Amino acid sequence: MSPADAAGPADVVVALDVGGTGMKCALVRPDGTTVHTERHPTDAGRGPDAVVETILDVAEGLAGKARADGRDPVALGIAVPGVVDEAAGVAVWSANVGFRDVPLRDLAAERLGLPTVLGHDVRVGGLAEARLGAGRGTGHVLFVAIGTGIAAAHVVDGAAASGAHGAAGEIGHVLVRPGGPRCGCGRDGCLEAVASASAIARRYAEATGAGPTGTAGRGGPTGGGPTGTPASAADVADRAAAGEPAAARVWAEAVEALADGLATGQALYDVETVVVGGGLAQAGPRLFDPLRAALHERMTFHRRPRLVAAALGDEAGCLGAALLALDAR
Ligand SMILES: [Zn+2]
Repeated sequence: MSPADAAGPADVVVALDVGGTGMKCALVRPDGTTVHTERHPTDAGRGPDAVVETILDVAEGLAGKARADGRDPVALGIAVPGVVDEAAGVAVWSANVGFRDVPLRDLAAERLGLPTVLGHDVRVGGLAEARLGAGRGTGHVLFVAIGTGIAAAHVVDGAAASGAHGAAGEIGHVLVRPGGPRCGCGRDGCLEAVASASAIARRYAEATGAGPTGTAGRGGPTGGGPTGTPASAADVADRAAAGEPAAARVWAEAVEALADGLATGQALYDVETVVVGGGLAQAGPRLFDPLRAALHERMTFHRRPRLVAAALGDEAGCLGAALLALDAR
């Protein structure tokens, strides 16, 4: 009997994707259909204990909502950022939520009385993109999320490997520019110190002296902004496309570094499809056209992977948490 055959007609799983600022939550049917969504603030400044209580309350509320609607909640999936020990169900470490060795799976299973699975936000996002999104139909997918940091998930036949210590996929800390910009991890020249959305904005500000008192970045086609608001990575992409030299240089350096990082990924994993998501993917062809060319340029004997934009947007983590719960039920 397949899992779909085993599912009752009213079965749903409860899914939560916990981020530094917000939680995306859903009730999802075994066929992947979302029947209800909610969003809640994480309010991480309250400390990890309060965040854990909110997670448990929200999960319990979703299970109650399901029952009130005549559905049968059968499992719970929770995705969190940082270092996650999926096998033990422990949120080991998280910079933006403050988790330190929180046994979240067992706490939630006890509170809700449901089979519960804990996953890593980027790995479950990759799982969802590989199974339901831009990587659908291909067995070997590398999902790379580029936002304030850069992280990846290697998904083979619908399962993402977590590594021996829950820390697989840290492609943002591949060394691409020895002696380059200082990374948040303390080393110089990591990929995310050159090519994350926040690194692009920071490097452009440094290059132009932009900011409330800066002047060097002004006077271009779009100027530095009369308000002195720092340019975002998206602004840098726009200004690069408009021909502003400093923006074009910072953007090109980021694309070249990303191509180096993805080429390393392809040498290690030999995937069919590289799916790029996160905020930087919003740049569209301004990112994907030069990045695809630079990546393919770096392939010698390696097969060129398909390079595509993520399809599920910020729902990927929540859908991935649902998939984990459906797999575990
Ligand atoms: Zn680093």
